[in-house]
Amino acid sequence: MNRKLCLVDYYKPFEFVEEPIHKPPPKGAIVKVTNAGVCHSDVLLWQKEFDMPNQRFPVVLGHETAGTLFAVGNEAETELSVGDRVVVFTWTNCGECYNCVNDRTNCPNLLPTHQTIKTPNIKTYGLFNTDGGFQTHLAVDDVSSLLRIPEAVPSDIACLCACGGITAMNAITKIRPAIDEAINLLGQARVALVGAGGIAQWAIQICKAFFGDKVIICAIDVRSDKLEDAKKIGADVTVCWAKEPEKTPEAVMQVIDNCGGRVNAGVDFTGRTTSLSRLVAASQMAASIALVGLSKEDQFPPLPINSYIFLGLSFHTVYAGSKRSLVQLLDLINEGKVKPPTIHHVTLEQVNATLEKVMTGEQSGRAVVCMD
Ligand SMILES: [Zn+2]
Ligand SMILES: [Zn+2]
Repeated sequence: MNRKLCLVDYYKPFEFVEEPIHKPPPKGAIVKVTNAGVCHSDVLLWQKEFDMPNQRFPVVLGHETAGTLFAVGNEAETELSVGDRVVVFTWTNCGECYNCVNDRTNCPNLLPTHQTIKTPNIKTYGLFNTDGGFQTHLAVDDVSSLLRIPEAVPSDIACLCACGGITAMNAITKIRPAIDEAINLLGQARVALVGAGGIAQWAIQICKAFFGDKVIICAIDVRSDKLEDAKKIGADVTVCWAKEPEKTPEAVMQVIDNCGGRVNAGVDFTGRTTSLSRLVAASQMAASIALVGLSKEDQFPPLPINSYIFLGLSFHTVYAGSKRSLVQLLDLINEGKVKPPTIHHVTLEQVNATLEKVMTGEQSGRAVVCMD
């Protein structure tokens, strides 16, 4: 039997359903799930902060999934064998548009900005309208959504690469030119990471793997316990700044003083305007800034575009990451160059309570469902 944890509607408690295990789709496969990460996006979806037009109920969340190959469709072409450990590439989306073909996650069929597209064929496992990993047996339509997990990478770590890991990889890749430039010109780059949760922990490791001691990483948060974790995993300096907007001038100086100067690049994982404006204020001219955190605030205040132009700042948005970056990240972990965030195992029964903790920010590191 397949045991699945269903989200029946926004805000509602999750419900268990049992059903016979599906037959594998002709070109797809069934994965026996061993691990699924509990991501902050699960909370956003549950609490209707995404409110996508194509949202389906009931839906099984869990978009960071690893398991073993259980069954393969009769038309599926793959080098994988039943029993192989695999991670699910969540962001397959329509797989056919310009962006999907070019290994980007920004599929217009997923985010229908082009109203002419009426027949989306979307496969984003564990979000919106396709069932994900909070179940014992997950069906994928196309076996190419499955990647073999390298030998030295445990499955509970591999699953986290599928969203948190590749998001961090994508963010660092986008600000990389500014970091390289600073290293080439000055011998060292200063990078600020605002919001020291699970994705930032990946970003710290990836920065260290790419740039070694040529980069000074400053982890920033309002919670000192998260900064302790960031320090353990490789942050060079940490800044615990006060939440209150009126404390902004001190907060900016804390970053500049601790880094030994303004930062050359930064990533905002929080989606909060206060955090972003502080990051901008602590940045060097011509700095590169990546935006990862989705905003809960209805409306951003007017942007000081003129000063951004005079400062020569570059902004990059980051929505998850590519299949290529997932392969790269798994290889870095396999080679021992990147260590995962702190992991806390939970059962499928504990997912509801875990999401509450993620929502309030009490969850440190990353929570991962273990099926057995
Ligand atoms: Zn697409
Ligand atoms: Zn996620």
